[in-house]
Amino acid sequence: MNFSKELIDWYSNNKRDLPWRTTQNPYYIWLSEIILQQTQVKQGLPYYEAFVSKYPTVFDLANATEEEVLKLWQGLGYYSRARNLHFTAKHIALNLNGIFPNDYKNLLKLKGVGDYTASAIASIAFNEVAAVVDGNVYRVLSRYFGIVTPINSTAGIKEFKTLASSLIDETQPATFNQAIMEFGARQCKPKNPDCKNCPLQNGCIALQKNKVDELPIKLKKTKVTLKYFNFLVCIDKNKNILFEKRSKKGIWQNMYQFPLIESDRSLNSEEFHLLNFNKKFPEISTFEYSLYNEVDIVHKLSHQHLHTKFWIVEVNELLKKSIRIEDLDKYPSPVLISDFIDTFNFDSL
Ligand code: SF4
Repeated sequence: MNFSKELIDWYSNNKRDLPWRTTQNPYYIWLSEIILQQTQVKQGLPYYEAFVSKYPTVFDLANATEEEVLKLWQGLGYYSRARNLHFTAKHIALNLNGIFPNDYKNLLKLKGVGDYTASAIASIAFNEVAAVVDGNVYRVLSRYFGIVTPINSTAGIKEFKTLASSLIDETQPATFNQAIMEFGARQCKPKNPDCKNCPLQNGCIALQKNKVDELPIKLKKTKVTLKYFNFLVCIDKNKNILFEKRSKKGIWQNMYQFPLIESDRSLNSEEFHLLNFNKKFPEISTFEYSLYNEVDIVHKLSHQHLHTKFWIVEVNELLKKSIRIEDLDKYPSPVLISDFIDTFNFDSL
């Protein structure tokens, strides 16, 4: 059986109609690939459509402000992708006259573009023989060939890339790459793969050895740390509210949030009272506060679980450096914050 041929035959009968599959425009391919990193197609599709419609060319994206880009990205997570997307759009528009690098080696030099994305753009937009290896490809290859090398080890990354490169159909690299990824997403799925109706079942080592559920092997993730966030929703009598830009480097850099006090555990009302609130806001002397959520809202990131409480702080003085409550949703903010804004009844104050 020819592995590549079977995959491509399967793909021609089973592929989904997706907008980035009808174009070879490197800008659109790049947009879709950045959006789909760490994101399911179903979740990423509306974002792709929103970006293409608001920024139809790389120049349009380059001319946007970072705040506008982050706002459109809001809810998709991993915000460094959006910051890099904007940075790279400006680089291409200003330094490369709007022309994308047209091979793997030069694509790899772009900020936010790693081996996977460079291979995807090079093959799909420029027909270069560059094999992609994403989570779907790791799964298909490790199961079909019965490979037990951990996929997130240095040896594994090398082994799977070499194997994918030896399998790619050199006459149609774009189709092969998309076929193997689609096969992993829809047929050889993480849970309950459809082995019964699989065109590769005769040669599949995992199926023969009854190891489908064990593969691929992944080294244990780094430990998850717990953080305790207290967001202070400070509102004055004129319905002005404090909303700050996170300038600190990190996942939420340049996004907006309510003033934050971190604690070493989840606080109750009395403990919160003991926090040195006035130290953070010396200009605020008289205020009343209440707790919005007794039970922590837990926001899970890849390496951190954020146990979060929102404290409603009604301030007697007029707040400086504040914004109007009705303007809150004009600013890009992490989903943890925007969910609160959508849910909290500001009229009750
Ligand atoms: S037989 Fe099952 S495990 Fe093997 S490639 Fe097909 S779907 Fe994947």
